[in-house]
Amino acid sequence: MTHSTGHSGASCRFCGTPLRHTFVDLGLSPLCQTHIAAHQLNDMEPFFPLHAQVCEHCFLVQLQEFVAPEHIFSEYAYFSSYSSSWVEHCRRYAHRAIERFNLGAQHKVMEIASNDGYLLQHFVAAGIPVLGVEPAANVAKVAVERGVPTTVQFLGEATGRAIATEHGQADLIAGNNVLAHVPDINDFVKGLRALLAPEGVITMEFPHLQRLIEGNQFDTIYHEHFSYLSFSTVEQIFAAHGLVLFDVEELPTHGGSLRIYARHAANEGQSVRQSVQDLRERELALGYRSLDRYTGFGEQVKATKRALLTFLIEAKNAGKKVVGYGAPGKGNTLLNYCGIRSDFLDFTTDANPYKQGKYTPGTHIPILPPAAIREARPDYVLILPWNLKDEIAAEAAYIREWGGRFVVPIPTLQVLDGPGLN
Ligand SMILES: [Zn+2]
Repeated sequence: MTHSTGHSGASCRFCGTPLRHTFVDLGLSPLCQTHIAAHQLNDMEPFFPLHAQVCEHCFLVQLQEFVAPEHIFSEYAYFSSYSSSWVEHCRRYAHRAIERFNLGAQHKVMEIASNDGYLLQHFVAAGIPVLGVEPAANVAKVAVERGVPTTVQFLGEATGRAIATEHGQADLIAGNNVLAHVPDINDFVKGLRALLAPEGVITMEFPHLQRLIEGNQFDTIYHEHFSYLSFSTVEQIFAAHGLVLFDVEELPTHGGSLRIYARHAANEGQSVRQSVQDLRERELALGYRSLDRYTGFGEQVKATKRALLTFLIEAKNAGKKVVGYGAPGKGNTLLNYCGIRSDFLDFTTDANPYKQGKYTPGTHIPILPPAAIREARPDYVLILPWNLKDEIAAEAAYIREWGGRFVVPIPTLQVLDGPGLN
């Protein structure tokens, strides 16, 4: 069964086929990084449709571009260094890449959307020349201050050529959680090709669509995240621009990600590994090359909303105090879609000082420093960045001193049991 959505007028950002099929419609939502300052609480906020569609030809799941990325990313509040597990993930990646590709002082490593230099710093420490490419000037400044040279740009074909002319091509190009965040994915991949040395390697990490569907991760759908990627669709996109995927790894990050390895089609020095064929065949067997795989997702999402609201209503009826933990982009989708405001959550917290003292977009829940939880002694702490639930449950284990419990909304609502609790 497929759902027709009428004439949205949009066409696939990769292959141009008119988009006619809904993946999930999450209604209207504000941009997830526009945290509201106290003086803005009475201002109007723009809400945009959060309606993901799937292309019947290439199976790219996608949101339309309602807001130019220059607006979204030019002062991005996300500083990558604030999650300790993510910092460790990047450190391990850097060391493995240096070893696998024999990188040294004669090479150059670039990262696209290099944020505050959290990844490239490991290459700098190993004596390997680096260049960060980061569109947000405020985070690029932090990178430069920590010794990571960074150019403030969006990557596309034109900027890729210009960077290659000025700085030379890259032997390794890394990109974590950027491929899904670019509205013009064809121009971006052309930019990668322009930047890549003839024998160079690209690695890109992005959330795997299979994990999104199986893990019910609808809250990872937000405006800044334009594309939702299966391996086979990414393989088609890279192939269309002369790049071959020669290896792929499955990672636990962000609820289940892929790390692809790409090279120029002409560079046969890197042979294509079995992992590529295995994953391509697995996706085919699981139905990712047919529309039916995609169109049942919406019902799954509605059931999740009902389960979370049922829990919150019962908790509040019983006089319980509930607060949030974290103010990530995915939290914005969850809170807005479910209609959860300070009527259910007294406040939420975030370790990022940039967000503290502000309010969540659309739902206006105050964002406080994590220490506020200790003062408030809530009965329940709803973990919004559920991909970090183990890390958070360990960091904030002190809530058990007063019998507090963690609640995780995704994939299905779960109240974590603590030692000595009923
Ligand atoms: Zn398409």
